[in-house]
This record gives sequence, structure tokens and C-alpha cells, in this order.
Amino acid sequence: MISGKKIILYNTLSRTKENFAPINKKEVRMYTCGPTVYNYAHIGNLRSYVFSDILQKTLEYSGYRVKRVMNITDIGHLSSDADSGEDKMTKGLLREGKTLTLKNMRELAEFYTEKFKEDLKALNIKIPTDLYFASDYVKEDIELIQKLEKKSYTYQISDGIYFDISKMPDYGILWGGKGNKETKNESQTRIGENSEKRNSEDFALWKFDKKIGFESPWGTGFPGWHIECSAMGIKFLGEQFDIHTGGIDHIPVHHTNEIAQSECATGKKPFVKYWIHHEFLDTSKGEKMAKSGENFITLRTLTEKGMHPITYRFWLLMGHYRTKLNFVWEALEGAETALKRLYNLYSELGPSSAKASAGKEDVGKVNKEYQNKFKEFIDDDLDTPRALTVLWDVLKDENISNADKKATVLDFDKVLGLGFSTQGGPASGWENDPNAEKISTLVEEREQARQNKDFQKSDELRKEINSLGYEVKDTTEGQKISKI
Ligand code: AMP
Ligand code: ZN
Repeated sequence: MISGKKIILYNTLSRTKENFAPINKKEVRMYTCGPTVYNYAHIGNLRSYVFSDILQKTLEYSGYRVKRVMNITDIGHLSSDADSGEDKMTKGLLREGKTLTLKNMRELAEFYTEKFKEDLKALNIKIPTDLYFASDYVKEDIELIQKLEKKSYTYQISDGIYFDISKMPDYGILWGGKGNKETKNESQTRIGENSEKRNSEDFALWKFDKKIGFESPWGTGFPGWHIECSAMGIKFLGEQFDIHTGGIDHIPVHHTNEIAQSECATGKKPFVKYWIHHEFLDTSKGEKMAKSGENFITLRTLTEKGMHPITYRFWLLMGHYRTKLNFVWEALEGAETALKRLYNLYSELGPSSAKASAGKEDVGKVNKEYQNKFKEFIDDDLDTPRALTVLWDVLKDENISNADKKATVLDFDKVLGLGFSTQGGPASGWENDPNAEKISTLVEEREQARQNKDFQKSDELRKEINSLGYEVKDTTEGQKISKI
């Protein structure tokens, strides 16, 4: 943490870069839209969480305390971000051949939440301690809808309770104002074919479902997806808070509707001071990567090809969060080469001094000049590409001591999260690979096979280790494992 808090962030609300100043000087309150847990997160989704992790760490680097809340959407998200289509969790249950019960829905959610947390861990993303399942806060959703009902913002039709956007004069300010459909794409303006709605953009606060759902004053069913985030945001961060993050797809519908229902219920504006959105990751063909589609790549797909998860993090940081990226294997391979080079430069620094080799680490001093530069870039709307150039400059600078270089790199890594503190970085050793346990078992089994002179088995095991991205060399000191 260093002093000086001049951070600039691009606010979707004003469409400009603004000086960041939290409502309460002591603490930044930040909400991140979490995943809908009916399937594995794809690497596009994970871009969202690498970005919000960098944002949190940049704020902390400047000395702010950050209270960060993330929801897990385990109910209510329909296949269209608006209110039409199939319920995503129901779709997940059907896909896995499970019967449609709330218990099964929760189990499905817990399974994919665990997988999601493993992904976050592998990407060096700080998992928010305030991580909550939406289904645990239905009571809060109902209370918020009741507030809106009392103020006459709602009406009932055959499939649910809806918010009447004509009652809110500044509905849609996040994407350019009511009626401005230019910034919306077709699926986002087609808010559902429900002809009973008063206005096409009215959205569901509660959806009826006779087969499965929660009890409410209006009948059994589910809260709308948007109300979940408003209710949880208000519950854990207050009626007004500092930062809300998510992907750009959330601007025209989800976040627009969060603003509408929160501000109308509480009577306080703005619900959130800074709305910060990241760009998308598309496929190499320029198609949208979506969990509902066939084209998605998970972090596991990358690691099965021998790529370390941190390589993906590094590749994302090479681009700015507001720049669209296309996923191309060659680009990721290029990032891997660059990252290995950085790790090598770092490990070549060796023990910093005689004190270090005697077991007492000489931690060195953070180079102030480089630190100021790094901070200037990272504080300028999280300019990670330029911040990375400072990292290279430090490692190549021949005029500062190794100990100081190390201290400076480790200091930057508090934000970048590339894993330099694990000596040389995770890509240099299989011990940090997500498949480490499996690799370790295979290596042990191979050792046994070698001792039994079962060379066929030993060869098979070698191939299996190869398929996880590592090669095995038999040396006089035993098996040596290294990345292919
Ligand atoms: P979901 O699990 O669909 O609720 O989405 C979780 C987060 O991932 C949201 O912030 C989305 O905006 C974001 N997201 C979804 N698809 C992509 C993508 N292809 N690239 C980047 N972010 C995405
Ligand atoms: Zn949300």
C-alpha cells in the first residue's frame, strides 16, 4: 500500500473518466454481479472477475479498505436477460437429468459455485468473503417489491408482477435514456413478447411458477433476476454505494433495471456512484462466447492443453479491460512465452545477498521512481498494459540492485497477481498446476512401475503425464518433471 489516492475510473453513468472519491472516505463499497451457476464459468465470464480483482487490488494498493459483495445467481435468470425464455437453472437441471425441485436446484448451484471458486483461486483472484446465494435472500426481494408496490410502481399480469418504467422519468440513463434503443441490440430491446405489459421495457419483479418456486404475497414463483442484485446490494452495502461492476451486456437491461427499482424503492439517487463495465471476450471467429452456446472454453480447457491459468490472467492484463478481445490460441501461447521470460528474469535475481543465503531474506527496497510510474498507469482507469511495461523495465534495469528489483516486482504483484512471490512464478513448477494432485499420483505410480521394471506401464504413465502438459526425464536423482 502506498499513499496518494488519485484514481481515475471510467464511469458508464457519465460516459467519462472521473476522479474516484468514495461516499465514505474510510471504506469503498463495491458490488460485483456474480455468475449464474447452471454450468461451468467460461473464460469470458472469468474476464469479469479478473477485471474486478484488479480494480479491488488497485483500490487497496492506494490504501482504501474495500468491502466487496458478490452474488451467486442460483434462481430467476431467464435465458434472455429480459424476462423471456427458459430459466437457466431449470435448463441446467434438465441437462443433468435431475428432477425439478428447489433442493436439486440448490445442489446444482453449490456444485458449480465450488467449480467457480476453484477457477477464481487458480487465477489468483481474491474470493470475496461476502459471497451470497440469491436464493437465501428471497425475503429481501419480496420486501423490496412491496416497497415498490406501495409507491405504485408495480402492476400484475398473468405471468408476474412487473415494474412500470413510465413511472420513472429518467429510466434508462445508464444506456442513454428512455426510448433510446440505439445502444441496445435486438435481443435486448425485445423484452419479451408479453402483450399484457404496459410498456415493452417493463420488467418482471416476480415471476409466477405453479410447479416450483418460493411463496410470496402474489403467489408461488421466483424473484426477477434484477431484483436479486438490488436487494443484496442494499442489504450488504446500503441504499447507496460506490462501485458496481459487470460486463457491458448488463448496461441496457440488468443494471438499468437495478437502478430503476433501487432508486424508486429507496427514493435515493444515485443508487451507485460509479458503474464500471468491462468489454467482452469473443471467440476467434468473433462470436459471442456464451454459457448457453456450444462455443465456450473453460479454464480447464486451457489447463488440459498445458497452459497455466495465470497465463490467461496475464494475457487479459496485456489488454485494457475496456477493449474487446478475441480468444486466439496463438496469442495465448505468445503470452505464455512472455510470462516465462518474466519469471526467468525474476528467478535470475537469485538470493538477494549474503544475508539471504544465510537464511535471512534481504527484502530490498521498493524503487520509488518505478513505483510512481506503475501507480500512475494503474490508477489511470486500470491501464494494465502500460503497468506491465513498467514491470519489464524494472526487471531489465541494470542500475538497481537485485534485492530492490525483487521488492519492486513483489510490490507490483500485489495488484497484478502474477504469482512472483512463489519464487519464479507458478508456471515454472507443476506443484501449482490445478492438476498437481493427479500429476503427483502419476509420478508416484511411475516410480513404482520403474522399480518393478514394468516398462510398459511406466511408458503409459509418461504419456498420461505428457497429456497434462508435462514431460518426464529420468535422471540419477529420480524423475524430473518440467513443462512441455
Ligand atoms: P453470467 O454467469 O452469465 O451471469 O455472467 C457472469 C459475468 O460474465 C457477467 O458480468 C457477464 O457480463 C460476464 N460475461 C458473460 N459473457 C462474457 C463474455 N463473453 N466476455 C466477457 N464477459 C462475459
Ligand atoms: Zn447483477
